Amino acid sequence: MRAALRRCAVAGPAPRRALSSAAAVDDRLLASLEAVCDTSTNASILARHGKDESHHACVPPDVVAFPASTEEVSALLQLCHERKTPVVPFGVGTSLEGHVQAPRGGLSIDVGAKMTAMLEENAGDMDCRAEAGATRKAVNAALRHTGLEFMVDPGADATVGGMAACGASGTTAVRYGTMRDAVLGLTVVLADGTVLETGRTRVIQRRFNVSVPRAHVSETAPTLRERSER
Ligand SMILES: Cc1cc2nc3c(=O)[nH]c(=O)nc-3n(C[C@H](O)[C@H](O)[C@H](O)COP(=O)(O)OP(=O)(O)OC[C@H]3O[C@@H](n4cnc5c(N)ncnc54)[C@H](O)[C@@H]3O)c2cc1C
Repeated sequence: MRAALRRCAVAGPAPRRALSSAAAVDDRLLASLEAVCDTSTNASILARHGKDESHHACVPPDVVAFPASTEEVSALLQLCHERKTPVVPFGVGTSLEGHVQAPRGGLSIDVGAKMTAMLEENAGDMDCRAEAGATRKAVNAALRHTGLEFMVDPGADATVGGMAACGASGTTAVRYGTMRDAVLGLTVVLADGTVLETGRTRVIQRRFNVSVPRAHVSETAPTLRERSER
């Protein structure tokens, strides 16, 4: 992380692409955003949010917001939607493909700062609910007393929201699956601020439905050679 910031400072931010329909964050919008939650236009905070851990150039947003709830995220998106201002969500910036660059400026919504709580642990059902900014290690620290583990490990202490957005996998994926297998439900805030609940969030049987076909495939499905010999 620190190395990325240094690179940003030495090379300077990369130029933004002009886009006629994208409205910049002016004083009026900034005041409205500030009324929703904490924001920052500090140069080093902006640089931190325009760069991930890859070689891609730093392209900072105009402003960073630090919401503490789904309602605040929704209000921020509603404001930007009305003004056609670009928005980039931000977890902790560990991605590797320039995901968090803001080529058209606008708002970076940093969920990794305040939305980090573990909301529910259901050890008996082997599931939990965490806020989007909770990191992999924080989730595992919270679950340790239950003897359970969140199994997706992409090699970075990324947020669950960032990992879900990237469809993260990692060294444990062959045995336990990827984020696609781990996520049972999501609270989604659409670009216009609409809040949706997706997935069947508390269906206990589902975990077994997922694992049984896998066990079946690995233990009893015929190999290609066996099939051709039949
Ligand atoms: C050393 C290293 C090894 C890695 N190895 C692997 C690997 O083996 N397999 C693999 O799959 N990945 C790997 N990764 C990449 C990893 O998947 C990402 O770093 C991680 O998923 C990004 O999480 P983040 O919280 O840092 O998100 P960020 O980098 O902050 O954001 C990533 C993207 O997700 C979006 N986003 C973030 N939070 C939200 C949210 N709450 N809602 C909607 N969108 C959001 C952002 O806009 C951005 O587009 C590796 C990364 C590192 C640094």
